[in-house]
Amino acid sequence: MSDKGKSEDSSHTSLNFIEEIIESDISNNKNDGRIHTRFPPEPNGYLHIGHAKSICLNFGIAERYNGKCNLRFDDTNPTTESTEYVDSIKEDVGWLGFDWEGREYYASDYFDKLYDYAVYLIKKGKAYVCEMSMEDIANNRGTPTRPGKESPWRNSSVEENLELFTKMREGEFPNGSKVLRAKIDMASPNMHLRDPVLYRIMHTSHHRTAGKWCIYPMYDWAHGQSDYIERITHSVCTLEFEVHRPLYDWFLDALDIFENRPRQIEFARLNLTYTVMSKRKLLELVSSKIVSGWDDPRMPTISGLRRRGYTPASIRMFSEKVGVAKRENIIDMALLEHCCREDLNKIASRAMVVMNPVKLIINNYPDDTTEEVAGKVNPEDPETMMRIIPFTKTLYIERDDFMEDPPKKFFRLSPGKEVRLKYAYIIKCESVVKDPETGEITEIHCTYDPDSRSGQDRSNKKVKGTIQWVSIEHAVKAEARLYDRLFLKENPSDVEEGKDFKDNINPESLKIVECYGEPSINDFKTGSKVQFERNGYYVVDKDSTEERLVFNRTVTLRDSWAKVLKNMEKKA
Ligand code: ATP
Ligand code: MG
Repeated sequence: MSDKGKSEDSSHTSLNFIEEIIESDISNNKNDGRIHTRFPPEPNGYLHIGHAKSICLNFGIAERYNGKCNLRFDDTNPTTESTEYVDSIKEDVGWLGFDWEGREYYASDYFDKLYDYAVYLIKKGKAYVCEMSMEDIANNRGTPTRPGKESPWRNSSVEENLELFTKMREGEFPNGSKVLRAKIDMASPNMHLRDPVLYRIMHTSHHRTAGKWCIYPMYDWAHGQSDYIERITHSVCTLEFEVHRPLYDWFLDALDIFENRPRQIEFARLNLTYTVMSKRKLLELVSSKIVSGWDDPRMPTISGLRRRGYTPASIRMFSEKVGVAKRENIIDMALLEHCCREDLNKIASRAMVVMNPVKLIINNYPDDTTEEVAGKVNPEDPETMMRIIPFTKTLYIERDDFMEDPPKKFFRLSPGKEVRLKYAYIIKCESVVKDPETGEITEIHCTYDPDSRSGQDRSNKKVKGTIQWVSIEHAVKAEARLYDRLFLKENPSDVEEGKDFKDNINPESLKIVECYGEPSINDFKTGSKVQFERNGYYVVDKDSTEERLVFNRTVTLRDSWAKVLKNMEKKA
């Protein structure tokens, strides 16, 4: 049985396991009841929906327990990090609706302190300078069942180590020639305790400390101590760090830090179907130009989702529904899309837009008349305004809304049958005109019932279908970018030998069409959310110009998750 779509209960009537731990710590007056979390991104890429989960969790805990949440950049690797990423991360966290209240910290703020800690370990005989290459270190680590080999430098004297470490810092050695390692246990069943590297030499300028350092701490050495320095009470992280926890504890023990130690709690990272979430893979999509950038609307990045038309509320709702799990699982992308529809339904303006037009002529409608019909801007909003839609004799309707030879349950337009034109009249199809060469229908001729106008219908007619339309004379031409999932497979990273995840790209993840909208679409600005009635939710893209609106399709109206829920109810 698969775990897909299932999540542990996160409704706020019952506590998730992290909240249970926190509440028990509070009731034991641990840390004087203080709650302090952090979100610790490495600025080596844009944030994605998995990070959003972690952001909602960490800032959410702080909100719920009257605590604080820091934004900390884990910037220990200058070769892959940049201020562009720092800026994008701040923008994304703020956009999700969270405030770090000026507590914007950097692991690089602590480089001096971390250096002093390292010297402390050397002096205690618990760290040594090793001249093996990273490769040799890896090759000598052994396996979980076979002990590793001790480094020939493992038993150098404290004085030698201090001198070499100082020279490392002063830039006397080339990259890769030496490292500082903790002296723990080369036979430990936990590989992370086999004399891990604390510092490596990198003659690289750092985006914040510039040329000050040429040795940089490893993530593991920086992370736990940074938490301690910031007086973090609960260090929430993903499951892969569970096996690092004994190492973090060892560091604190060795540093003689016994008070105010952060408590690490691990949860399962968010995985989503039909996408990839590793930053390395996302970067590959960007640099190979498979997508237009980190904010391409098909990307699972927060900036991509924003450009796609997702709202902060929909992402927070998703995070809440997913809950926190202790076991790895994969969440169905349809759940994210469902949350998006729920929110957009409440806030999006409505408009009639035709994507694949066919001309419709109402034979008995006066030639030079424009009537104004009205529709609600948003029927879900009690204070909504009305929008005015011009109605004329010659319209576009959606080609798919007509069938010459329809199956039984086709309730839209077909010869001799009636439908309602939304907000306007009931029409009846009388005949069609076809292109003599291709056989394609070029015109649909109808008659209308003047007594059937919406809101003042005296026709006594019952029709089953309602379709959208636009007056050709008034139609606003726009570009619609129809996005679909970026990958064809539920798990794109699951590939045969010799292939890679990029082989699972959906070649039809973007289709660009010209569409025709009612005049009200001209009022929309970049970022405006709109429901194209009977079609889907769209957002105005930043590529729009004065002359031409560009819409991104956020999601269609078909909610496959709602179906899943219904089936689950039926079975129960
Ligand atoms: P990658 O492994 O793709 O490089 P990362 O996890 O190393 O990503 P970080 O910038 O270190 O990226 O992540 C910052 C925080 O976000 C960490 O606390 C991490 O645990 C959390 N996080 C990252 N990915 C996910 C995810 N898919 N679900 C939940 N939390 C995540
Ligand atoms: Mg990381």
